[in-house]
Amino acid sequence: MHAAVFYSPNNISLEERDHKFSSGDNQRRGVLLRMNACAVCGYDVNVYRNGHIKVRAPVVLGHEICGELAESTSFSIAHSYPDGDVYKLDLVEGTRVVLSPVVPCMNCMYCDSGQYNLCSNLGEIGSSIDGGFAEFVRIPNNTLGIGGLIPLPDCLTNEESTLIEPLACCLNGFKRINSLVNDRLEDKTFVILGDGPIGLIHLQLAKYLYGAKVIVVGRVGHRLQAARNMGADFVLELEENKDTLPTSAIKEVLDLTDGKGTSVSIIATPNPDALEIAAGIASKNSIINIFAGMPRHLSFQLDPNWVHYNQIALIGSFSATPKLIHESITLAAKKRGISLSSIITHRCKLDEIYKALEITEEFLGLRVVINSF
Ligand SMILES: [Zn+2]
Ligand SMILES: [Zn+2]
Repeated sequence: MHAAVFYSPNNISLEERDHKFSSGDNQRRGVLLRMNACAVCGYDVNVYRNGHIKVRAPVVLGHEICGELAESTSFSIAHSYPDGDVYKLDLVEGTRVVLSPVVPCMNCMYCDSGQYNLCSNLGEIGSSIDGGFAEFVRIPNNTLGIGGLIPLPDCLTNEESTLIEPLACCLNGFKRINSLVNDRLEDKTFVILGDGPIGLIHLQLAKYLYGAKVIVVGRVGHRLQAARNMGADFVLELEENKDTLPTSAIKEVLDLTDGKGTSVSIIATPNPDALEIAAGIASKNSIINIFAGMPRHLSFQLDPNWVHYNQIALIGSFSATPKLIHESITLAAKKRGISLSSIITHRCKLDEIYKALEITEEFLGLRVVINSF
């Protein structure tokens, strides 16, 4: 099979491999998926340029995956999916599916409670084991066992289905926010820090789930225009390399909110300035979700009294469970409020992987999808 293999920073090689090739025990088992489409995530670019502590090279990257079964399979789902019952799923060859890239250990307290994304010994397809920038990907038994292959309805295309996984991750963040506000937000002003695909999915969810007033803060003109088209009430374009950047952004958001600040801030950018901005614009009772991964060894100073006296909730959210992927499919299939196709701007062949990574890195569009292998 054709595969793009990551070896080390700035070193991805296009190779022919045996599709039964396996670099670890986990990959010898499970079921084989033929790739239909795989989106390029900012994470893939970060790994390509800098490597990552989670990545065990050589490995095929790519975790936003839509494929079809290359062989029939039957598996029992281990825990709480999708409605609390344990049941068996039979999938035949050719079934179109999306993938949860989570490979849980099934032997820790988080796996015991169905929180597989928090597994203490988490493996990830496209990170620690081979992912979707290849003609085939092998899905390990532990992923099958949590219902990590989810069949797709016909109304979702292969391309838009690649964004079901990121949508599920964003939904995970919203579930956590919701658990703090019990559906009641005093003031529905959301600020999304980051104008990339993830920021724009958050924008769509904030509009759809809360009818929120949404301010999107970013640096890229065409992305902020896309945010406007998707219903952002305000967009704020930050100037590159400006010393006073967090301070001026804070002032502008406070001006836009009559000095009140925002009830929810979502950090959807790895730029650490976003932390300072989020703290500066928080109203009392505000929730700040650190959704994006940040550069390693970054420290951030926080005044505990500010958290205490203002009842600030600083939360994080990471990845998603198969249950959330299931919910995301239902949400996207309604074709109301959430438009995944509007996030996809470029299509590339697997042979054009460098171009695809470059388009992503240079913010030339929104999501790039590899759709031909
Ligand atoms: Zn991703
Ligand atoms: Zn575990």
